[in-house]
Amino acid sequence: MAYTPMMEQYLQIKQNYQDAILFFRLGDFYEMFFDDALVASRELEIALTGRDAGAGGRVPMCGVPYHAADGYIARLIEKGYKVAICDQVEDPATARGIVKREVTRVVTPGTIMDCLEEKRHNFLVAVVEGEDGYGLAAADVTTGLFMATRLPGREELLDELSRLEPAEVLLADTPSSRQLTGTIKERLPKTAFSFWDAAAFTRQEAVKNLEGRLGPRWAGSGLGELPGALLAAGGLLAYLAATQKRDLAQINRVQVYSGSQYMLIDATTRRNLELTSSLRDGSRWGTLLWVLDHSVTAMGGRLLKSWLERPLQDVHEINKRLDAVAELVADNLKRDELHRLLKEIYDLERLASRAVYGSAHARDLLTLKSSLAVLPALQKLLLTFKTAMWAEIVRELDCLEDIRNLLEESLHPEPPAGLREGGLIRQGYHPEVDSLRLASREGKNWLAQLEAREKERTGIRSLKVGYNKVFGYYLEVTRANLDLVPAHYIRKQTLAGAERFITPELKEMEERILGAEERLVRLEYDLFTAVREKVAGAVRRIQRTAGAVARVDALFSLATAAVKGNYVRPLVHTGTRLLIREGRHPVVERVLPGGEFVPNDVDLGEDTRTILLTGPNMAGKSTYMRQVALLVLMAQMGSFIPASRAEIGIVDRILTRVGASDDLAAGRSTFMVEMSECQVIISSATPRSLILMDEVGRGTSTYDGISIARALVEYIVNRIGARTLFSTHYHELTDLESLPGVKNFTVLVQEQEDGVVFLRRVRPGRANRSYGIQVARLAGLPEEILKRAQEILAGLENRRQVTGVSGREREPAGEHKTAVWGFHPILAQLAKLDLWQMTPLEALNTIASWQRAL
Ligand code: ADP
Repeated sequence: MAYTPMMEQYLQIKQNYQDAILFFRLGDFYEMFFDDALVASRELEIALTGRDAGAGGRVPMCGVPYHAADGYIARLIEKGYKVAICDQVEDPATARGIVKREVTRVVTPGTIMDCLEEKRHNFLVAVVEGEDGYGLAAADVTTGLFMATRLPGREELLDELSRLEPAEVLLADTPSSRQLTGTIKERLPKTAFSFWDAAAFTRQEAVKNLEGRLGPRWAGSGLGELPGALLAAGGLLAYLAATQKRDLAQINRVQVYSGSQYMLIDATTRRNLELTSSLRDGSRWGTLLWVLDHSVTAMGGRLLKSWLERPLQDVHEINKRLDAVAELVADNLKRDELHRLLKEIYDLERLASRAVYGSAHARDLLTLKSSLAVLPALQKLLLTFKTAMWAEIVRELDCLEDIRNLLEESLHPEPPAGLREGGLIRQGYHPEVDSLRLASREGKNWLAQLEAREKERTGIRSLKVGYNKVFGYYLEVTRANLDLVPAHYIRKQTLAGAERFITPELKEMEERILGAEERLVRLEYDLFTAVREKVAGAVRRIQRTAGAVARVDALFSLATAAVKGNYVRPLVHTGTRLLIREGRHPVVERVLPGGEFVPNDVDLGEDTRTILLTGPNMAGKSTYMRQVALLVLMAQMGSFIPASRAEIGIVDRILTRVGASDDLAAGRSTFMVEMSECQVIISSATPRSLILMDEVGRGTSTYDGISIARALVEYIVNRIGARTLFSTHYHELTDLESLPGVKNFTVLVQEQEDGVVFLRRVRPGRANRSYGIQVARLAGLPEEILKRAQEILAGLENRRQVTGVSGREREPAGEHKTAVWGFHPILAQLAKLDLWQMTPLEALNTIASWQRAL
C-alpha cells in the first residue's frame, strides 16, 4: 500500500517514537495521525478529522496550532503521555520536494519545561538495581538540580522516591526492572515510567556520559565510589540527551548525598505527620509546610520544602541555620527590607534553564534583568549580617553585573510577546538596527506626506494611504470621488464603497519600507538569540546565585514563621535529652481559635526513655505525640519551635505508627498494616531514634491488642532503648511502669455529672477509666444506647470483681475495651517480685502458692 510521500515520511519518523504522541509540523499546525490522532482528539477535546494519505485512503488526523502547542503538550503530559515534537528542519521556501523533518525534542513528564508548580521540583529519577542495593539519580531539568545516591534496600528506595515524588521514573529496559515498576506503582500510583536501552546503563557508558556532560568535575563528586548511583546518573544523562536533543548546560554538576546526613523519615511517617501534604485531601493546607512556608521566591519555596523533608543530623550545621534565623528574628527592619528585595526576584533557576533551552523570550530575559538588578542591594544587606551561614551565602552570591548590563543595553524595555515581529532590541545597541528602523520610520513619514500631497493635488479630501498583507500599500478613494482620480493611478482592488490604487512611486517606497522591516526583524531575532546564548553561557553563575537567594529566602521564611508564631530557638545537642517546655502543635494551634491550644511539656532522655500515655479517646494523645515529633523535626531543619524552652538531643530517625491509615487498596487489612508498620519500626529503630506508637493493637481483640502492645513496649525498652511515646487507651498497660525508664503520663479529663471535659493537659499519672461512654455522648449518640451501654459496663465490672479473671478465660464476644489483666492480684504480686533476691526454691514455693489460690 503506497502512501503519499509526506505520509511515508511521517510513518518513518513515527517508527522510532512508538511510545509517544508524535506532533508533526505541517504549516502552522502540529498534526497527529492514526492512533495518535484518536488519543489526542479525545484527551484534548479537539476535532478529529481525516487526511487523504494516498493509496492508504483517509487516515484519522487532528491538529493544534503551533503557537498554542505548549498548552496542549502540557495537558497530554499531565495525563501521562509523552509527546515527540517533529519540526521542519529546513526552510520550506527553499526546500526541494518534501521538507526535511526531524524530531527535535521528546517532552516527557520528567522533562517538561512549562506549566509547572512554582514551589516544587519536577524530578526525572533513574533507578538501577545492583548488588549493593539501589542506585538513584534525580534531575530537574527546569532548575538544573542533579543528584545521586545509594539506597541499601527496597524500603529505603521507596521512601526516597516518595520524598522526591518523581514525575517520571526511568529504568533500564530489562525484565527485572520491569518488575520493579509494580512495587513502585503500589506506593506512587501517579508516577510515569520510561524504559531505556539497558546498554546505556553500563559503567563505561556512564563514565562517558558524565564526562561529556559534566567534564572532569564529576570525578570529584564521589560518584565513582557508588557503582549503582553512577549507572543511574549515566543512564539518566543518556536518556536526557536522546530526548531533549539539545545542550543541557543547566545540568553541570552532580550532588552525591547519603542518607546518614539527614534525619530519616520513612514514607509512612512523612504521611502521618502531614509534613507537606495533608492526609485529608493531599493539599498543602494544614501541613507543617503550610505553617512554615513564608518564602517569597519560587527558589526559596523549593529549598524550604527540601529542608523540611530532610532535617539534618549534624549539630554544627543545624546551629548554623539556627544562628542565621536568630539574627533575622532579632531584626524586624532587616526582615522587612529582605522581604521587599526578595519580592523583586523571579525564578532565576528556571529562567536560566529556559535560556539554555532556547525557549526564553524577551520578556523572560527582562524578568531576569529586573531580578538581577536587586542583587547589589541584597548583597549589601547580607553583608551586615554576622553569622557564618550569611557569610557563606554572600560568597556564593554573584551580582552578575555583566549579564545585567548586557540585558540592559540590548533589550527593548517593552518587547512584544513573540520573537518574530521585531521590537526586541534597544535603540543604540546595534547601528544597523537603528538605521533600519530609521529607514522604516522615514518611509512611513514619507507615506504620510504623500497622503497630504495627493489630497492637495487631486482635491480628494477623503483620500488615504492604507496597507494590507495582500496588496501592500495603496491609496484609497471613496466611490463618490472616483472621477477625480488622476490617470496615472493604477486600480488594484474594488470594495463596496471605495477603490484602491497604487502608483509606481508608492510601490518603490513600499519595497524600501518592507525590505527594511524584514531585515530588521531577522537582525533583531539574531541579536536576541546571541544575547540569550550569552545568558545561557552564564548558567552556572546564575544557578549559584539562585542557590544563594534560595537559602536567604528559606531562612527568611523560617524567621518569619518564628516571629509570627512566637517560637523559640531550641538548644540542639548530641545528648539524648529531649526536653520541651510548653510545647504547642504548630498546625493545630493555628487552626484552633486563638488561645485555645493548651501547651504541654515533654521530658525524655536518660531517666525516662518511654512515655506511656493513657487517656480517653479525643483527649489529645495523638496531637501531643505528633507535636513532639514535629518539634524535633523543626529543630533539626534549623527552625525555631513553638514552645517556651526546648532542648533537643539529636534524633537519627522518626518512626511512627499512628492513626488508622488503611491500605485497603493494596489488599491489606488495617491490622495487617498496623503490624507491618510495627515491624518496620522494630527493625530499623536505633537508640537515637524517636518512636511514636499511637494505639497499637487497636485493630484486633482486646486481649490480643494488649498482649501485642505490651510485648512491643518491652522489646523497645529492653532491646532498642529508643526514646518512645506510646499512647493507648488500654489503661491496663500502665503497670509497664515497672520496666526501667518507662513512665506513665495521662491527658487529664474532668469528670462531670453527664460527661467529661477535656483539659488537654498531659501530666504524670495514669488514666483509670476509658470514658468511652462519655465520649460517645459527646459525639451525640442517642441516650437510649448510652444508658444501655452503662448497664452492660456495670455488669461486666461487677462480674470481674466477683470472679476475677484468669488469662485462660476467653474474651466475651462484644466486650467493651476494658481488659482485666492488670487487675489480678497474682499478677500484681508477680510484677513486684525481685527475682534476684530469691532462691530457686523460694520461687517454686511462690508459684505453688499461686497455683493453690487459683
Ligand atoms: P486522641 O488521640 O486522644 O484521641 P486527639 O489528639 O486526636 O485525641 O485530639 C482530639 C482533638 O482535641 C483534636 O482534634 C484537637 O483539636 C484537640 N486537641 C488536642 N490537643 C489539644 C491541646 N493541647 N489544646 C487544645 N486542643 C487540643
